[in-house]
Amino acid sequence: MKPNINIETPYYFIDEKKIFKNLKKISWLKEKTGVKVVLALKCFSTWSVFGLLREYLDGTTSSSLYETRLGYEKFGKETHAYCVGYTLEDIKEIKKYSNIIIFNSISQLKRFYKEVKGLSIGIRINPKVSYSQYDLADPARKFSRLGVIDKNEIKKIINLIDGVMFHFNCENDNFENFSNNLDYISKEFEDILHKMKWVSLGGGIYFTKKGYPLNEFAKKLKSFIKKFKLQVYLEPGESVVTEAAELVTKVVDIVHNEIDIAIVDASTEPHMLDLLIYGTPAKIKSYPDGKYRYMIAGRSCLAGDIFGVYNFRKKLKVGDIIRIQDAAGYTMVKKNWFNGLQMPSIVVKRLNGNIEVVRKFTYEDYLYSLS
Ligand SMILES: *Cc1c(COP(=O)(O)O)cnc(C)c1O
Repeated sequence: MKPNINIETPYYFIDEKKIFKNLKKISWLKEKTGVKVVLALKCFSTWSVFGLLREYLDGTTSSSLYETRLGYEKFGKETHAYCVGYTLEDIKEIKKYSNIIIFNSISQLKRFYKEVKGLSIGIRINPKVSYSQYDLADPARKFSRLGVIDKNEIKKIINLIDGVMFHFNCENDNFENFSNNLDYISKEFEDILHKMKWVSLGGGIYFTKKGYPLNEFAKKLKSFIKKFKLQVYLEPGESVVTEAAELVTKVVDIVHNEIDIAIVDASTEPHMLDLLIYGTPAKIKSYPDGKYRYMIAGRSCLAGDIFGVYNFRKKLKVGDIIRIQDAAGYTMVKKNWFNGLQMPSIVVKRLNGNIEVVRKFTYEDYLYSLS
């Protein structure tokens, strides 16, 4: 069903039924293996749909004080805190919200240990193996500051911690690669893992993707759990909300410079920033038999504000709707006021089919984002 056309574009359109499809897989995996699954808020923090997510997930994990607070206030259940660099002020507030706190380095752990006694404490390890298509997002890239490198250093503070976190994947849909890396981690960190109550395997595993060998994944996790007898956490972001939203836009002009270019009332940089950061085209339905080829572009003044090039069956005209797929993860959390462009509203289609405009942004939001 298409949403009401009288909602003004642009808007992010989140379909709870599509989130539910991912949640069903997650809940199957949890039942099969006993893993707990916490949502990575840095990927998706649209709290209007936390009601649904809360029924299937075990809580949230965060990368800053504000995310931890949001998880505590709007999601509940388990609240895991992590940050690449805490301040003392962060720690004092975070400990009110979280049940697990993960440090990125031994020096931070030592500095703040006294402050967080009573919480379950973990440390991030850089296992020096990873999977990522992009160096920018590779947690084990050269000179990476993400996690402790030296396992002998960890052994010295092992009595201070209950758990460890390995986040070593980015959009990894290759099960064999994950499996090999987990074997490596099991071997390399065996004596540490045997002493832990929990381990988080981080996010970035694309296990809700169509065709992912979920059965094999479950088997692998089960044997890992059996070996080390600990609680395993997964921290998916993208896998929870993949394919669950669209950015709905409208054509405002069509120009020609060697090819036809349709300009829409949204933009890559402020509304789908990752397309620019990773240099990937937006997912827009393209018809191989479509005779009309258009570059779809944003209306910011950035010359390279381009969603991609697609074939359509009909000539596009001003007012036509262009739907950009897969617009849930790393979009709304990154939106910004570049060019002062109108911010897409957030619209949710509930499981029962009701459509709600949960947030509209106004000139005042833009005004008060600065002073
Ligand atoms: C980014 C991140 C996640 C979530 O990653 P996805 O690719 O969205 O699943 C989980 N844990 C940590 C530590 C992260 O940095």
